Amino acid sequence: METTPPEGESRSVKVLIIGSGPAGLSAALYAARADLAPVVLSGMDLGGQVSQTHIIENYPGFPEGISGSGLVEAFQKQAERFGAEIVFDMAIEADFSRRPFRVKTHGGEFLAEAVVIATGATPRKLGVPGEEEMIGRGVSYCATCDGHFFKGMDVVVVGGGDSALEEGLFLTRYAASVTIIHRRDSLRAGAILQKRALEHPKIKFIWDTVVTEIRGKDVVEGVRLKNVRTGEESTLKTSGVFIFIGHTPNTQLFEGQLEMDARGYLIADSKMRTSIPGVYVAGEAADPVFRQVITSAGMGAAAAMQVTHFLEENE
Ligand SMILES: Cc1cc2nc3c(=O)[nH]c(=O)nc-3n(C[C@H](O)[C@H](O)[C@H](O)COP(=O)(O)OP(=O)(O)OC[C@H]3O[C@@H](n4cnc5c(N)ncnc54)[C@H](O)[C@@H]3O)c2cc1C
Repeated sequence: METTPPEGESRSVKVLIIGSGPAGLSAALYAARADLAPVVLSGMDLGGQVSQTHIIENYPGFPEGISGSGLVEAFQKQAERFGAEIVFDMAIEADFSRRPFRVKTHGGEFLAEAVVIATGATPRKLGVPGEEEMIGRGVSYCATCDGHFFKGMDVVVVGGGDSALEEGLFLTRYAASVTIIHRRDSLRAGAILQKRALEHPKIKFIWDTVVTEIRGKDVVEGVRLKNVRTGEESTLKTSGVFIFIGHTPNTQLFEGQLEMDARGYLIADSKMRTSIPGVYVAGEAADPVFRQVITSAGMGAAAAMQVTHFLEENE
């Protein structure tokens, strides 16, 4: 099996896929089945965000749910079965000014006829004690994914934008109560969402307040709060902490080369094409809206199908 090219050498490939989350591994499956022998750069996190997920219950085909690591393993095996190669390295520089595109990694350099960017996004963290340890034990960044586990429980939502209110409203389907903790005294979310949240009988707000610690032994039991105006500290009992303070797309590497919006999401058309012909994008690197395994995987498949057409027309 070939791996990253030795230092100073370049390795030519037809398709380079940057990222090994659901988007990257699905693109790899489709590109491999089109006989393009794709190479996938895994990045630091083989499997992407899914690998941090205890259980996935909304990916079709697994009626009992499947562990995040189990799903990643299945994605990887299926892509490899048809000839995809996963290289444990990350892209550190890209030059898309001409074909073949050059992508430098820690280990060497790839020259690719086409590229699929599937570098995903990272949910912004609060950065408070207890947060990391409690991910999957009550701390979540996705209500659609985890809301179901909090039936009849009291949960808090951190944030004041559209996502925080949308996800907070979604959580009212399951939770006994949803307390939205916002560091300001007014919301950034759209007017209709605000009205719905403010009027909802299960939703309460705590204003001008930040979470300073997430507490619990094995699972979340409470949060420590601080009022930013008065400095007053308090503790609130809760079983879940849903954090919606934004996502950061992992696209810094492509700044100045590919069109992106103000938040750094790559701009793609309905065929997953970026602003440079031959460079495609899939998954959360271009998707601030849906952010699911199924949608990211779907975008990966679509990007690889387009790559196949592109190479047929341009080889
Ligand atoms: C805790 C948690 C629970 C979730 N639960 C669910 C759920 O139950 N159901 C659901 O549908 N969705 C869930 N999601 C969301 C889902 O995981 C994401 O929507 C999905 O993983 C996005 O896929 P992606 O391939 O676009 O990106 P990611 O999963 O973010 O993967 C990005 C990949 O790019 C790689 N990468 C980044 N930079 C580089 C680089 N420079 N070079 C090479 N590689 C790079 C990373 O190593 C990673 O492999 C959850 C997310 C989290 C965080």
